[in-house]
Amino acid sequence: MKQYRLPVILLVVFEIVAVTLWLTKDNLFYLFNFSYIGLSISFGVFLFIKKYKYARRIVQLLVGLYMLVYLGLICQENMQIEGFWYYLFTGVFEAATIHYAVAKIFGPLIFGRGWCGYACWTAMVLDFLPYKEPAEPRRKPGWIRYVTFAASLLFVVALFLAKVGNIERIMFLAFIVGNIVYYATGIALAFAFKDNRAFCKYICPITVFLKPMSYFSLIRIKCDEEKCISCGKCKRVCPMNVDVTDNSRKRENGTECILCMECVKNCPKNAL
Ligand code: SF4
Ligand code: SF4
Ligand code: SF4
Repeated sequence: MKQYRLPVILLVVFEIVAVTLWLTKDNLFYLFNFSYIGLSISFGVFLFIKKYKYARRIVQLLVGLYMLVYLGLICQENMQIEGFWYYLFTGVFEAATIHYAVAKIFGPLIFGRGWCGYACWTAMVLDFLPYKEPAEPRRKPGWIRYVTFAASLLFVVALFLAKVGNIERIMFLAFIVGNIVYYATGIALAFAFKDNRAFCKYICPITVFLKPMSYFSLIRIKCDEEKCISCGKCKRVCPMNVDVTDNSRKRENGTECILCMECVKNCPKNAL
């Protein structure tokens, strides 16, 4: 039973968050929301322990579709980065701001870029594409993420400065248009660079939050140097080009790790 401790602990942690937010904010939504996400993640970890090949993909679909379809399209909550700026500036500490605080700003101090591996609805689609292992070496246009980050901020600031009416409606439209643009760009880049995760590596503005915070992540993949035979398999299968055999925090592309466990699953010596 010891092996099932992790999914149980995760479920309990999410339930504590769910109940605390439900009671403090007097809103039943938080109980439902965090219970659902906690159950999905715990179920995924359970499947992983059972060595089910598609455990991560199941979690990605359960959480990603819930956020995209239910929260985004049905509840019309803009969970994209411009939605975060909008709710932040209006002082509304609700779903989108809480989501960013937990998944993308403070959470990565504990679980790194787990969001990118298990919940992001953009990557949920990109991971279906054929280039799971990058076919070419990594390129350098990482600066583009700062441009998209600044553009999202400027877009919302401009709406406020122009005193545009019915901003809620505009934010919903921005959510739809933004997602279409993300998917189209992500798919085009994946085929152009032969790399499913090219969008994550070069364009995604959220990495401006995720990368520095995940540098300090408590949960990391580590290499047992005694067991490692330097076969290089882990680096070949890594979708994010992480130099996972280097245990230092400064390892190459260390802040890109999405905890997908492909390296762990493929290591012939169980060194990771
Ligand atoms: S880098 Fe951006 S697009 Fe990629 S998984 Fe993370 S949040 Fe999603
Ligand atoms: S796959 Fe395993 S044995 Fe091979 S280099 Fe990576 S950690 Fe070492
Ligand atoms: S393959 Fe390993 S190092 Fe690469 S992203 Fe996945 S968990 Fe991280």
